[in-house]
Amino acid sequence: MSLPQGVFSAGGSIARYQAVFQPFLLDGHTLIAFRTFERNGAAKILAIDPDTLETSEMAAGRIDFKAPVEESSLSATPFHKALSRHTALPCPLQNDGLTESDTSVCGSFLTVDLCPSVMPFEKRLFEGLIDLWRDRGEPAPVGLAVTGVWADRHEEELQWLIGQVRERKLRITWINHSYNHPYDRDKALDETFLLTPGTNFEEEILSTEILLLEHDLVPSVFFRFPGLVSNCDLIRRLKALSLIPVGSRAWLAKGETPVEGSIILVHGNGNEPAGIDMLLDLFHTQKDAFTRGGLTLLPLNAALAVPLKTAASGSN
Ligand SMILES: [Zn+2]
Repeated sequence: MSLPQGVFSAGGSIARYQAVFQPFLLDGHTLIAFRTFERNGAAKILAIDPDTLETSEMAAGRIDFKAPVEESSLSATPFHKALSRHTALPCPLQNDGLTESDTSVCGSFLTVDLCPSVMPFEKRLFEGLIDLWRDRGEPAPVGLAVTGVWADRHEEELQWLIGQVRERKLRITWINHSYNHPYDRDKALDETFLLTPGTNFEEEILSTEILLLEHDLVPSVFFRFPGLVSNCDLIRRLKALSLIPVGSRAWLAKGETPVEGSIILVHGNGNEPAGIDMLLDLFHTQKDAFTRGGLTLLPLNAALAVPLKTAASGSN
């Protein structure tokens, strides 16, 4: 599928943005091109490593798409298994997808939603996380679920976050949270969020990816539905875009307590300070356990049984 050129990236560096699914070989390793586009006129792809679920931007000219790739070699990969498992029936209306680690891990996964907001972001959360991680010698892992509208209105805060990645204080997994994040509190759940009639689902996703790329950030394979609300049709279309839905087992402001393997959800957009209070309290009361390694946070792709990269890939 393709987007009308210029509609979502007027004046930007990204054009001809398209969703594809094209496995290819690079140095004997199978990767998957899942987007093609032009950056300042140069042909590029976004690629998934199906073993690690890491994503990266590559020059398309490097790649020989004609070399045959055994499709069967993909079916056993963590990416293929995760995409199948987390888009399978029965598609609950709320909290579908990955909510806790698929295998037993020591640690949990912090995800922070940046839904549209006129409030300042929760800088204290990120500073608390950086402070907690100060002695570890590696960046603190966090998944940021970004909406296009939040990024549009909070450029300075987004740049601050990017600066923390550059300084190796944060390792951010950029989770797509839709562009507009539609919501009407007076509507039933199956008529609001991305189920709002007239919503262009693919446009909501791809335009947020373009926004991230225009900030030189690499979109991950993860998508968080606004309100954690979806249905079978949207899950099927998400799978067609090669994206894995991410729910939560521990939405702190709703009183859910994290355990090993939980995907923790807080709002970093200033609209739910109670969740941030709880998280900072946890950081404070458990500081010794975090410092000694008894408690830890992990990058989101580690929830799908993939080898951890110790090098901070930072931007994906
Ligand atoms: Zn949201």
